[in-house]
Formats: sequence, C-alpha cells, structure tokens
Amino acid sequence: MTTTDAPTHANDTGAACGATTGEQGPLTIFEKSSPGRRGVRVPTTDVPDVDPSSVLPEGATRTAKAELPEVGELGVLRHYTHLSTLNFSIANAFYPLGSCTMKYNPLVNEKVAALPGFAAMHPMQSEDQAQGFLELYWRLERLLCEVSGLHAASIHPTAGAHGELTALMVMRKYLDDHGGADRKVILIPDSAHGTNPASCTMAGFTTRELKSNDQGGVDMDALDEVLGPDVAGLMITNPSTLGLFEPNIRKICEKIHGVGGLVYMDGANMNAILGRTRPGDFGVDVMHFNLHKTFSQPHGGGGPGAGPIAVSEALSPYLPTPKVELVEGTGGGGAHGADPGPDATFRIVRCAEQSIGTTRGFLGNSGVVVRAYSYIRSLGERGLKRVSENAVLNANYLRVMLRDTYRVWFPGPCMHEFVATAKGMPNGIKATDVAKRLIDYGIHPPTIYFPLIVPEALMIEPTETESKETLDEFVAAMKAIHAEAESDPDVLHTAPHSRCIGRPDEVRAVKQPRVTV
Ligand SMILES: *Cc1c(COP(=O)(O)O)cnc(C)c1O
Repeated sequence: MTTTDAPTHANDTGAACGATTGEQGPLTIFEKSSPGRRGVRVPTTDVPDVDPSSVLPEGATRTAKAELPEVGELGVLRHYTHLSTLNFSIANAFYPLGSCTMKYNPLVNEKVAALPGFAAMHPMQSEDQAQGFLELYWRLERLLCEVSGLHAASIHPTAGAHGELTALMVMRKYLDDHGGADRKVILIPDSAHGTNPASCTMAGFTTRELKSNDQGGVDMDALDEVLGPDVAGLMITNPSTLGLFEPNIRKICEKIHGVGGLVYMDGANMNAILGRTRPGDFGVDVMHFNLHKTFSQPHGGGGPGAGPIAVSEALSPYLPTPKVELVEGTGGGGAHGADPGPDATFRIVRCAEQSIGTTRGFLGNSGVVVRAYSYIRSLGERGLKRVSENAVLNANYLRVMLRDTYRVWFPGPCMHEFVATAKGMPNGIKATDVAKRLIDYGIHPPTIYFPLIVPEALMIEPTETESKETLDEFVAAMKAIHAEAESDPDVLHTAPHSRCIGRPDEVRAVKQPRVTV
C-alpha cells in the first residue's frame, strides 16, 4: 500500500473481514452452515454396531447429536484460506517489532528440518539410531561456543526466558559450591526485559535495580553504590533493549568479578554483534541465546523456540542434563574442535554429578535446533558477520531518516534497533495511535511502551533482511502519520480502519482470549 491511500474509515476498504467480495464476511464456519450440506461422505462403517453405553462409563456418551457445521468442501477451503489472510506475518510485509528480531527465515531451513531423518525421529529412539541428530546437537553447541567465546553450551532450554532460569540455576549451584551461598542479589539495569527479574525471582534470587545514565548505559557510580558481598551477579542485556552497546562492559565485568559475583548476559540482541565481538572475550561468564531471534526461526504467538545457554569453564559442570557427548576416542577433531570427524560417535549423558539436573523433557524443541544449525551453516562465518553489519546499518538508516520527525530518545549511532518516542506529538497523539495507524498502511507496528524507561516508546527493529525500498516505505508511512497527527488527529485516535478488529482491550485479550466469535 502506498502512503497516500491508507484508509481513514472502516468502510473505505471493503473491510478486510469480508473475503474478496468486499462484504463483511462471516467469521465462523458455523455461520456458513446449511442443513444437509456435505464436503465428504465417509463410507458406511463395517464395524459391528455396539451400544456405546455398554463400553463407555456413564456420562461419557452423548445424549444429543453434536452440533457440527454443515459446509461444502469449497466453502471450507475458502473459509480457512480467508482466515489465514487475516493473520499478519513476515511473509506479508514489514514487521519492525523491536526486541523480537522478526527477520526473514530462509525456507531452506524448513526443507532441512523436514528431512525424514529429523522430522520423523522419536524422542524414545535409541542412541545408535539417532547418531546424526546427536551429532547436529553437538556441532551446534560447538558453534555457539565459538560465537560466544565461552567454553560449553547446552541446547536444553526451550526459550530465552527458560534459558535465563536454567542459567541462573547453574549460577546458584556454582555459588553454593564455592562459598557463595549467602549471595542472593542479582543486579539488573532498569532497561531490562521483564523476563530478567522474573527469572531471578523464580531461581530464588532477589533483584536490585541498576539505574541507567543519561546515555542509556550503566551508571558507573550507581553500580559502585550497589556492589557488595551479597551480590551474586549482574544480569545485563548487551546490546541493551535501547539498542545500545554498553561501552563500559569490560570495566563492569571486572567490578562484578571483583566482589565475587558472576556476569550473566541476556543475548537476545546477538544479531547486532555476531562475528564482531564475543561475550566471553569481554568478561561474561554465562549467557543465553534466542535461537528464534538470532539464528532464524519463525516465532511469535507462543510457537516453539530454543534458548540455549553458554557458560565459562568454571560453570560447565553444572549444565543441565540430558546432554550430548562425544564418545571419547571416536572423534577426529577432539571434544573442543568444531568438526568431530567421520568416525565420531555420540551418546546422551542423562545424569552428571554436579549438574543442576533436568529442566525439560528430552532434548528440547529439536526442529528449532535443526533450523538454527542449517541457518548458521548456510551463512558461514562471513555470512554471520554480514548479518550484524546489515542489522546495524538498517537500524541506523531508519534512525537517521526519522529523527527529524520523531524524537530519538538516545541520539547517536545505535546497534540493531533504536527507541524513538511519540511524546510531544501534536493533538495528544500517543504511541498506541501511531502503532494502530501503521496497520492501515500495511505495516506491523513496532514494539511500544518498552523499554519502560522511555515514555511513549516506539522501539523499532528493522532487522537485517529488509531492503532499502521497504525501509523507505516505512519512513514514508511514519512521516505521513506524523502529518495526520497535525491535520486529522481523529483518524489516528480511532485507527485501525482496515481490519475487522480495531482496538481490543489488550489486557483482557491476553488474560481471557476468546478466539471464536
Ligand atoms: C525476547 C527477549 C527475552 C525472552 O526471550 P523468549 O525467547 O521470548 O523467552 C529476554 N530478553 C530480551 C532482551 C528479549 O528481547
């Protein structure tokens, strides 16, 4: 959609709810039901008639016929195809959702994940039947160590937040074993993602907030004030959720280590630094990755993810089990090489003396793991460097193109994302209004109202896979919206005008989702 033809009223568009006809089409298949209509007719059963009440417990049999929609095959096909068009995804258009890295996920990953040797594997299959799968896990762990500059990794956790919890449990056990049982406090910058303090609490720590300075980084004086013998560690996101690389990261790590604490890095923003710098090299002891952000994987909507963790040598005995291990003497490349060689065999270690144990079943969301491996191997070292180069370039391009229209909260170069603000927009226009209006321009809104320390935040992450043309369309839409805020604010207050749902109560939509009409 070009920037001049965004709809301003619901009836301008032929409403997206109606199918291609432009009518307000029925949303449920029940509304399409017509008595006696059938899509398929199943053959009459040759199973002898049994009285259900003779084999099923009382109360388990129907007393009335099931109410099922009666719809022809073509009607069903159109209905579900139409519903699918109401969804927004990266396959439709631009999706600059800050913090989430909604980048294009190459379809070759899907092809690899669908290979029967991966897709048809059963978690209870024996090790000798799963050697290829185990090798892939082992190789991916080695690659994550290489990317992070850390000693050992575990692909066990299912999501970033689960990686946080698992890694904090590893830290807890390490501290308990090294005279740090009294250390209960984790320091967390005020720009952190909400999962950070939540994970600390779940792992039995208490949290202490660390104020940001006026550049968006850690305030070094504030850090000195909160350091003490009760500090178990620091949990820092770098680059931060403000899209800024922490310039004092080395000094910060030294200070934390100086008081006997550990440094945890939330690695959700690794796509900005891939191949450029390594957390292990700047002093981090433990981190998590979000495979579904950094290493490509369709995500959102609670779909499967993976949040592997990587740790220093000192923490590695505490990693969770089960874990994949190279059987000694079989691998050409040795346990710390990235290539195990053709004769290598692998086994699953189910228990290890110092391990924190198991925090999920089996070996995690294996399809995600295969896709991430395929992504890394198809890009190679140079490709991964270009990921971070383009992620940073695209974000800075948008930042510069928009900075005269929307105030950028922390001026100066950003990493893979930046935070602008809708504060001070004409006619009381808020971040929500801008976000809702973008929908009418065919663009997914950026993250809004996060990070919490920026009022009316618009957190924009273009990702590395978008073209200049797409970025220019977004700039034009954002500028057009700013002009509308001046000339026609009501159109923003009531946006979106192009979808069948306008402004749901967002809290209730999460707490009491009603996905049928
Ligand atoms: C996404 C994200 C998380 C949580 O990761 P999930 O995989 O969604 O559980 C944590 N921290 C930051 C900075 C994030 O962007």
